[in-house]
Amino acid sequence: RAKRSGGRTYRYYAKDWNAYAHDRVVLAAQLRRAISNDELVLYYQPQIDLRCNKVVGLEALVRWIHADEGLVSPVRFIPMAEETGLIEPLGEWVMKKACQQAADWWQQGIEFGRVAVNVSGVQIERSDMVAQVSRFLESSGLPAECLELEITESFLMTHIEAAADLLAGLKHLGVQLAMDDFGTGYSSLAYLKGLDFHTLKIDKSFLEGVPQQGSDAEILRTVVALGRSLGFKILAEGVETEQQRSFLMDSQCNYAQGYYFSPPVPAQAVPELIRKFAAVEA
Ligand code: C2E
Ligand code: MG
Ligand code: MG
Ligand code: MG
Repeated sequence: RAKRSGGRTYRYYAKDWNAYAHDRVVLAAQLRRAISNDELVLYYQPQIDLRCNKVVGLEALVRWIHADEGLVSPVRFIPMAEETGLIEPLGEWVMKKACQQAADWWQQGIEFGRVAVNVSGVQIERSDMVAQVSRFLESSGLPAECLELEITESFLMTHIEAAADLLAGLKHLGVQLAMDDFGTGYSSLAYLKGLDFHTLKIDKSFLEGVPQQGSDAEILRTVVALGRSLGFKILAEGVETEQQRSFLMDSQCNYAQGYYFSPPVPAQAVPELIRKFAAVEA
């Protein structure tokens, strides 16, 4: 009986694996087409200065407008894009689009602060990021200081040497740098002191137990204080409640981003959103 159920388990596993592999091959082919056919779209999520309640940045988050499945989350296709090399054309599309859009807003006098673009480690390893960024800044006319690149802590920690050169090159262009998902990569803050980052984005998992769980709250307060003492601006990701907002404010956190303020929205909704925040007193 054990053998039979073992066999069954194997068959189910094999079947699921085939479906999974097939799904990925099909998905990769479709994504390749989607990139060249402009079937991707950027949503923007505001980053808020906790003291004045103004928008200081917009994070560009890619979605795929899929014929059968509607808007597909990047969680579903970024890892596959990284494995297949599609992250290069995808990353280039995102960078170009975000720079063009931000340059449009900039020309219209819309005060969005910075547009923040997520950059994958694989993309950094494979393409000449500095040349690419420089090209898109020039073709769009976006001032370099209006662009921020988000690089994950886990990539930085595993590629510390390559990263240092890249960061210097990007810094030289005048773009800002943010460390994304901070707290998930097990680095020590003291080690980060030498890296030229403007912002540390504390991963949203740290906020989940705040303020109910004392230990989470204590960790968050400590990270904010230490990060600030090292000269970083601190942004908390995944703020969903008023209690979290006021806790962060009391903890001297600089910026926040999350559904409490706004979900990611399409580009056309951005100007109105910025006006709305500007009109409300903190
Ligand atoms: P991320 O860079 O950490 O982006 C934040 C994610 O948290 C976004 O998910 C955002 O929609 C979500 N989020 C925002 N506020 C809240 C909140 O209050 N609660 C919760 N639970 N979640 C919130 P999204 O858009 O699905 O993106 C997921 C990840 O995909 C991003 O994580 C980023 O790592 C990656 N990604 C998105 N766009 C790009 C891109 O253009 N290039 C690359 N390389 N990666 C991207
Ligand atoms: Mg990000
Ligand atoms: Mg993040
Ligand atoms: Mg994240």
